[in-house]
Amino acid sequence: MSLSTGEAPRSSARDVRLLPKAHLHLHFTGSMRPSTLLELADKYGVHLPQALSGGAPPQLRATDERGWFRFQRLYDIARSCLRSPEDIRRLVREAAQEDAADGSGWLEIQVDPTSYAPRLGGLIPTMEIILDAVDEAARETGVGMRVLVAANRMKHPLEARTLARLAVRYADRGVVGFGLSNDERRGFARDFDRAFAIARNGGLLAAPHGGELSGPGSVWDCLDDLHAGRVGHGVRAAEDPRLLARLAERGVTCEVCPASNVALGVYEKAEDVPLRTLYEAGVPMALGADDPLLFGSRLADQYELVRSAHGFSDSELAELGRQSVRGSRAPLEVRERLLEGIDAWLAGPESGPAAGLRG
Ligand SMILES: [Zn+2]
Repeated sequence: MSLSTGEAPRSSARDVRLLPKAHLHLHFTGSMRPSTLLELADKYGVHLPQALSGGAPPQLRATDERGWFRFQRLYDIARSCLRSPEDIRRLVREAAQEDAADGSGWLEIQVDPTSYAPRLGGLIPTMEIILDAVDEAARETGVGMRVLVAANRMKHPLEARTLARLAVRYADRGVVGFGLSNDERRGFARDFDRAFAIARNGGLLAAPHGGELSGPGSVWDCLDDLHAGRVGHGVRAAEDPRLLARLAERGVTCEVCPASNVALGVYEKAEDVPLRTLYEAGVPMALGADDPLLFGSRLADQYELVRSAHGFSDSELAELGRQSVRGSRAPLEVRERLLEGIDAWLAGPESGPAAGLRG
């Protein structure tokens, strides 16, 4: 999908794909290349609905329940094409390759292993396959990579507790955080407080979704009930100045995914995503692609969108890059390397007129 607002990028624009950054909001199946989905669907004889079989990304309008259901259904169909350890390895490798091409030096990918477990021999083998794939992809691409295990809010909180224990068990193998995804309008965050306590006590970052489909109240719940260290989306915190102040004061990074917000109808157009409000309130942000498979744009596109729709200067884009790195769970030496790279990007020459454009 084109994220350009029709204006040509300024001739001074540096290439955002060369800006070092960390990617903290990317879902497992949602990271798949569309061409890979086509191949896997063909291999397994899965019939893809038109919205997944090429062409323009679907307009989902997930702000009503029907739209959200449709989004979930598309996601489920795509997920059903991941059946073997080799499929998992391919997905992870390609996600890392895409991130590398977009200037990401650190990727935290989010997965609910229960969705893949039936075909891969159970939860434990699934985690082993995913974490081995992550190690392999990191070695191959040079992108540091870790995993967030995400529970599904539509399922029973006891299942979330099982997942939290599993996540903690793999903390020394590459799991760095625990998330909570799916429709935040359903149930209460506090139903999952014990799962999050298990995760936090095991040293994991609490990073639930909030403030996307629901307003600021759901972000408050993430902070107060789940003690979130980072918030998936969180963008609707912009509607509550007191909440913005809290997020800024505590340094809670919001994983803002502007193209996703527009595709799901959270905001009408890119210009409406309140990125400036968060930025100016001092709320740290890490731009993310969420589900590029469904939304048609990847990580660097988010930075390009912030430039074209919100007029962020190169020095502000560099600051967003820094915020993404600081909000990550990357080890100190990786952070330092990325932060130095960001300074070098900004100190480097401005590139030609086409630099900011993406094919
Ligand atoms: Zn998400």
